[in-house]
Amino acid sequence: MLTCFDIGGSTIKSARARSAGEIEIIDRVATPLDDFGAFAAVIAERVALDRNATKGVSISIAGVVDPASGSLKCANIPCVDGRIIAADLEAEIGTPVWIANDADCFALAEATSGAGRGHRNVFGIILGTGVGGGLVIDGRIVAGAGGYAGEWGHGQALATRVGTPPVEVPHFACGCGQSGCVDTIGGARGVQKLHHLLCGEVLSSTEIIDRWREGEARARRTMDIYLELVGVPLALTMNIIGSSIVPVGGGLSNVPELIAALDNEVRGRTLRRAQSPLLVKAALTTEPGLIGAAALGIQELTHA
Ligand SMILES: [Zn+2]
Repeated sequence: MLTCFDIGGSTIKSARARSAGEIEIIDRVATPLDDFGAFAAVIAERVALDRNATKGVSISIAGVVDPASGSLKCANIPCVDGRIIAADLEAEIGTPVWIANDADCFALAEATSGAGRGHRNVFGIILGTGVGGGLVIDGRIVAGAGGYAGEWGHGQALATRVGTPPVEVPHFACGCGQSGCVDTIGGARGVQKLHHLLCGEVLSSTEIIDRWREGEARARRTMDIYLELVGVPLALTMNIIGSSIVPVGGGLSNVPELIAALDNEVRGRTLRRAQSPLLVKAALTTEPGLIGAAALGIQELTHA
């Protein structure tokens, strides 16, 4: 078995995994942000529960690991940012440690036991507060140089003149230091920002999407422009990486009409004329991070 963790900026979730699809939750605790000793202790204490049985630690984390150096970039958890994280944890815990980005783990979970099963090229996307993505080819995460492969959310990709009739949409500044990134519009935060810009109303993304589903004119305008803004770079991404399925996770994926509308937008713009849906709701709606971490660890054990 493996001890698996799903680590975000607020919570560390843990589980035992006997196979990729079979996990048993241990618990969830607050993430120690500033003390690496306390952070490592959270991992070590859960590994100690199964000291004789566990073959290693497998982690999904809200950060990016450089495959060449092993260095972790994780702005939300300062005590691990910049560390050679797997080696540092192995030194503290005494078992092998495997670690990958959370969107990559999500994509791996969907590719191995979710909506991507049977597909060789799976691009998992997250439409949550912001936007993320992970690429899995032939069952393995494609981390790419620096660990950034699949990050379709960043780069100056958004059109500035959109819709029918057209309207000017400015490039908003992004946390990555650029502007006009998909991440600034594609998630729940972006829907709110776009609606405020276009309609002058301050509403939650849930309210906007509910009104869109009901056919309300202002919400329809916002979502038409949202779909065009996000659909164009996503279709381009599909042309480049050639995925045959795109499992969608994150809060916005709970709206079937939104996935269907974005799928329609993307399929209308890709060079390949896919006859069946490309974007589908992620199948693993509970604990995809832990399931992805389990799949990663089991792969690493098998290939070791
Ligand atoms: Zn960005």
